Amino acid sequence: MIDSHCHLADEVYAGDAAAVIARAQAAGVRAAMCILDATDEAELARAEALRPLWPAMVVSVGVHPHKAGGFAGRAAGSAECVATHIDRLSPRGIGEIGLDYHYDFAPRDVQQQVFAAQVELAAARDLPVVIHAREADEDAVAVLREAGRGKVRGVFHCFTAGHWLATQALELGFFISFTGILTFPRAGDLREVAARVPLDRTLLETDSPFLAPVPFRGKRNEPAWVGRVAEQLAAVHHTTTDAVVAATTGNFVTLFGA
Ligand SMILES: [Zn+2]
Ligand SMILES: [Zn+2]
Repeated sequence: MIDSHCHLADEVYAGDAAAVIARAQAAGVRAAMCILDATDEAELARAEALRPLWPAMVVSVGVHPHKAGGFAGRAAGSAECVATHIDRLSPRGIGEIGLDYHYDFAPRDVQQQVFAAQVELAAARDLPVVIHAREADEDAVAVLREAGRGKVRGVFHCFTAGHWLATQALELGFFISFTGILTFPRAGDLREVAARVPLDRTLLETDSPFLAPVPFRGKRNEPAWVGRVAEQLAAVHHTTTDAVVAATTGNFVTLFGA
């Protein structure tokens, strides 16, 4: 089992990261992808300190849409910032990057330019992208089609959108990743979408420290609980948790490497 998206270098784990990692390993989580904010030097330093504790942890680095405003008028600077970290950190992916029209922390045109610049970098470096798209379905697809020119692969993380975006993502050759939201009682529509995404295109994630699954809802999330997402996906697909774990682990390796 692999947690394809967590923020293990977030400061909320600064006091007990070793215990969090030990619980993940004890729960059968063999690897995780730690998502890093390219603009946060403190987080990048914490990630370096974590790597010896969990050699199977890989990283992805990018400028989150919430941080796009810092690159207003100079979107290329976001890609340059990420490029310096690619050389330092050897990430397996670029992200999370994308568009967030729910919070709109940065103007939408700036978000689009910063997203596009990083998609172009991903194409140039042949790295997969980790997409954060919230209430921005059509624009996210448009940027991927234009800036990615059909060459960029990746995953739509924390998928909460509808059938339209799921279909577009699959057409683009992308994977779709589900979090503990899938376990929430009111997420019936999302479970219906998940049922129509083939298991060979699905990934598991916690997005910890956020979005703890039932029965841990409201607590600080952690990679050890990614199994709850696997169990829920198994129910959705009328299959076994083992089958979900095998498929999603294989998908992670296909996309990000072993
Ligand atoms: Zn996200
Ligand atoms: Zn995230």
